[in-house]
Amino acid sequence: MIPETVAQVEPHAQVMLNPEQDAEEQQWRQQLAQSVRSPKALLQQLQFSDQQMQQLVADEQGFNTLAPPAYIARMQPGNAQDPLLLQVLPQAAEAIATPDFITDPLAEAQFNPIPGVVHKYHGRALLIAAGHCAINCRYCFRRHYPYNEQQRSRKQWQDSLKHLAKDPYLEEIILSGGDPLALTNPVLFALLDEIEKLPQVKRLRIHSRLPVVLPDRITSALCQRLQNSPLQVIMVLHCNHGQEIDDAVEQACQKLHQADISLLNQTVLLNHINADADVLIALSKRLFKARVLPYYLHLPDHVAGTQHFFVSPRQGQDLMAELQTRLPGYLVPRLVKEEPGRAYKTLIAACTLS
Ligand code: SF4
Repeated sequence: MIPETVAQVEPHAQVMLNPEQDAEEQQWRQQLAQSVRSPKALLQQLQFSDQQMQQLVADEQGFNTLAPPAYIARMQPGNAQDPLLLQVLPQAAEAIATPDFITDPLAEAQFNPIPGVVHKYHGRALLIAAGHCAINCRYCFRRHYPYNEQQRSRKQWQDSLKHLAKDPYLEEIILSGGDPLALTNPVLFALLDEIEKLPQVKRLRIHSRLPVVLPDRITSALCQRLQNSPLQVIMVLHCNHGQEIDDAVEQACQKLHQADISLLNQTVLLNHINADADVLIALSKRLFKARVLPYYLHLPDHVAGTQHFFVSPRQGQDLMAELQTRLPGYLVPRLVKEEPGRAYKTLIAACTLS
């Protein structure tokens, strides 16, 4: 059930929204509430026949199906190979146990000094702002992460920030999750208020897939709040395929751009979805048209249940060599890999060997 007003959701929140802003806030929440939450419902919406559904419906392996209507609207009805559908539809292959594909391949637990904080980069710390997302991506490296144990109340955020305040070198806070923009504006703004009290912090980075999967989340109140922040704000989108960017996504990016927010994108390189030079080139160009710079192209992690998406480093290097030949440098993302125990991403050069 959708609450009538913002105040009903967070009675403690002190954020005043005008009627137009309140309507915008309600609209994206309504859409989120209308998300599809089962493989069968997803396939039905895309007009698959009963017989096709019998073949396609697979066990969710404890990671629920979740896709908002705005994202489903960009899928091609009846196409089982649609690159957006493949990112959210559970596959039978997820049940196959594969050696080396494990539940915490990045060993993040060891960098988790207190619940809700991942502090493994010098000068930066990642705050788990939300325990949920607006979409469940089947390849997600945090699909086994114990979000429930990391759920944050306002008091717990204050504890996390008190811990981070002790680090004099901390210049940047990264809001991640889950998805920080899955928080309502009043809750998110309250967190920003706390972060902005840390004198050594200069930059705020928000990692979010919401601008892509639910572009109405980019409300005027959000843009205004971020524009008024004393921090430099960077938003890192997560977009894997040019088909994910429609006019509404482009408009959302435009709003963020007009609010002086630097826009970058990270893509996960995924077999069957975007491990193809033409697809990656089209994505870079489409992102740039929406004022977003391609930033990282991640090799997928060895996450249990995601082996069917895997792309080898050599394949990634070959693709990068082609991208470098066919795109201007500013449209070529950096190919990177996260490695357990390493406090920075490993940059992988394009392969120049024939
Ligand atoms: S939005 Fe990001 S964190 Fe959430 S399921 Fe997708 S990849 Fe994972």
